[in-house]
Amino acid sequence: MLVFDAHLDLSMNALEYNRDLRLPVAAIRAGEAGLTDLRGREKGAVAFPEMRRGEVGICVATIIAGCMKPSLPVVSWNSPEQAWAMTRAQLAWYQAMEEEGHLKRLTERQDIITHRHDWENDPENTPVGIVISLEGADSLRTLDDLEKTVENDGLIAVGPAHFAAGRYAPGHNMSGRLTEAGRELIRKMDELGLILDVTHLSEEAFWQCLDLFNGTIWASHHNCRALVDHPRQLSDGQIKALAERNAVIGLSFDVWMTVPGWNREKSCRADFGADLSTLAQHIDHIAQLLGTSKHCGIGSDLDGGFGHDQCPSDLDTIADVQKLGPILQEKGYRQDEVEGIFHGNFLNLLSKNW
Ligand SMILES: [Zn+2]
Repeated sequence: MLVFDAHLDLSMNALEYNRDLRLPVAAIRAGEAGLTDLRGREKGAVAFPEMRRGEVGICVATIIAGCMKPSLPVVSWNSPEQAWAMTRAQLAWYQAMEEEGHLKRLTERQDIITHRHDWENDPENTPVGIVISLEGADSLRTLDDLEKTVENDGLIAVGPAHFAAGRYAPGHNMSGRLTEAGRELIRKMDELGLILDVTHLSEEAFWQCLDLFNGTIWASHHNCRALVDHPRQLSDGQIKALAERNAVIGLSFDVWMTVPGWNREKSCRADFGADLSTLAQHIDHIAQLLGTSKHCGIGSDLDGGFGHDQCPSDLDTIADVQKLGPILQEKGYRQDEVEGIFHGNFLNLLSKNW
């Protein structure tokens, strides 16, 4: 079954982890033997062959470079100019992969419809479709950069925040509202017809964005606060507000967001019972709360700076995403509902509502 994954950091893995994603996951892991510079070394879960095996035929592919403080081990730079240059490099890598036929950038509604048709008819010979999203807006020196990236590079979505204090918006681990530049960014996004990604916004900025922004919204990689109580997660009130805006929520596979009490240094996913059925509980929570699964999707984040030891225990690589289907069916979800969660809900948003 076709999978639409609403959140993969492919270019960050290529350029900051130095991973050649054309190779199988096993080869990338072997090539990292002994490296300890970054989290998740030797434990990557995403590469093009495994995406194809898992039928991940379309994904939201990020460009990501911030200059927030305190900084992170990856995606953190000391000036907007450095961050801007990094996103240019990331776009150049996507283009190189497109020129080789591995990826295909989708920038318009018709591209989405055509790509779905091509993938369903001839997946072997169809590149993986990518829609470009900017995760954290810090790399935009001014809003001219936003306009240029939309016009020249086919950017279609922006999440204004990431971690910590961003130049436009506070991240999920902060409190507070959008900066003045952040409010201008939201207005500009409306003008340009961009999609607003609310993932990583502080709670106050989340509500402020919903007020200010009139266009299409999604939450690309986000789970439920009712099940794991953390400000990074969506409260039931936020989930209902997103549904009112016809948004789709991509459920994230990062286990700390699926099961309470996860400790990044100590916890072992098998002991925690953190598997794909644990993730399915988050999908089910949203569906029960809203009385429909139409707002649920997948935003795996499986290459988001951690390894398979922080993935569900029955998932080794992204190819195993397909195992979620039978789990949902066992919970009573009909075939058409599972298809909606796997791809239909996000594709409808892009091909009809956007
Ligand atoms: Zn993220």
